[in-house]
Amino acid sequence: MRLRGSAALLTALAALVATGLVAGPAAAGDRQSGRCALPRTSAHHSLGVDTWNEDYPRPARSLDAVMIFLSFPDSEPLLTPRELASDHFPATSDFFRRASYGKFALRPHPLPGWVPMPADSTSYAIQRDWSAENRTAYLRDAVAAADSRVDFSQYDIVYLVADPDAPGVDSDATKVVNFDTALRADGTDIRRVVTVFEKHPPDRHVLAHETGHVFDLPDLYHRPSDGKGDWDTHVGDWDLMGSQFGLAPDPFGWHKWKLGWLDAGQVECVPWGTTSRFTLDPLSAPPPAGGQRGNARLAVVRTGENTALAVEARDSTGNDRGACSEGVLIYRVRNGTASGGGPIEVVDTHPRTEACWDSSVYPPLADAPLGVGERFTVAPEEARVEVAERTGSGGWTVQITTG
Ligand SMILES: [Zn+2]
Repeated sequence: MRLRGSAALLTALAALVATGLVAGPAAAGDRQSGRCALPRTSAHHSLGVDTWNEDYPRPARSLDAVMIFLSFPDSEPLLTPRELASDHFPATSDFFRRASYGKFALRPHPLPGWVPMPADSTSYAIQRDWSAENRTAYLRDAVAAADSRVDFSQYDIVYLVADPDAPGVDSDATKVVNFDTALRADGTDIRRVVTVFEKHPPDRHVLAHETGHVFDLPDLYHRPSDGKGDWDTHVGDWDLMGSQFGLAPDPFGWHKWKLGWLDAGQVECVPWGTTSRFTLDPLSAPPPAGGQRGNARLAVVRTGENTALAVEARDSTGNDRGACSEGVLIYRVRNGTASGGGPIEVVDTHPRTEACWDSSVYPPLADAPLGVGERFTVAPEEARVEVAERTGSGGWTVQITTG
C-alpha cells in the first residue's frame, strides 16, 4: 500500500508535525525519525521500532550470560569446557561490541567444569523441531543439574552447551527456546534459554545469531517447505539473522535502530514526495574518533502503515570485512511479518548478475548494493535511489526521490 492510500497514517503524521512545531527544533530530529518508526505489532519478533518488548532483555550497556556445559552418561567428553567456551568467546562479544558501536557489552561467564546430565544424550531424541516433551525433559534436567552451581538470578542470558561428541547431540537443533511458562530457579523466572548443540568448531556466528533472538530479532531466512530449497533468498549474506555463514553479518541498520544502537539522530527519515540528498556513514565502520557525531547510518522511506524502505551503506570493514561487494543497500521492512516469514527483503539493484558464487550463501544478492554513479528505481514503491559520490571521510552521498 502506498502512503497516500493511508488516511490513518496521514492523520498520525499530521499530529506529529503539529507537536513538532510546539516542541521546537531541539526535538525535530527525533520527530523526523519518529515518522519513519513502524509500530511494533503482535507478530513474533516484530520489526516495529516505536516501543521495546519488555519480555526481552534490551542489549544496552551490558548483559551477563552464563554458559553451562552439559555432559552425558553415554559419552566421556573429549574437549574441555574451556575449549568449548573459546569456540564462542570472545568472538561473540567482539561481534556485538562492533555492531553496537561500543554501546553494548555481552559478558560471558562460562562454568569451569562439566555439569553431568542424569540421562543418556540419546534418551532426549535431540533434533531440529524435536518434540516438546523431550525438549522439556532436557531443559528441566539441565537446569536442575546446574542449579547447585549457578545462581540463575545473576544472569540475563542462559547458554546450555551440550558435549558435541555425545552420540545424541545434533547440531541442527541449536536454537532459542522461549517458554510459555517460565522455568523458576533461584527465585528468578527463566523465560528462555539458548540450547547449543554445535560441533567443534561451530558454525560461524551461530551463537551471535541465537543471541539476536534473545534480543527479539527475527529469523530473516526463508525456510523452504521441503527443507531442500534455498533458504537465503530474502537477505542473502546481509545480516547474521539471515545465514550464520553470511559474508556481511553486521546487523541491518533497522535492527540496530530497534536495539537502540542507532539513535534517532542517526536515522534519516526521507519525507514522501521529495528529493533528499544526504551522506551515510558505512554501517559497520567504527564511530568517529573524538566523540564526533558522524553522519546518519540508516535512511528510511515510509511506504505505508506497516512498511518501509531502508537504505544503508555497506563497506568491507568491521563485522562486514568479508563482504562480497560494497555499496548502498536497499531493503523492504514489514513490521507485521513474523520471524521466518520474510520481515526483511533485500532489493537486488543488479538483478541480472551474481557475485562471489564460491563463497556467498546466495550469489544473486551478493551484488545487491548500488555503486557510485548508479541509480535504481524501486518498484512498485516508486522510490529512486542514486549514489552520487563517496566523501573524503568514507561516507556515501545518496539522493532519494519519492512520489
Ligand atoms: Zn534463528
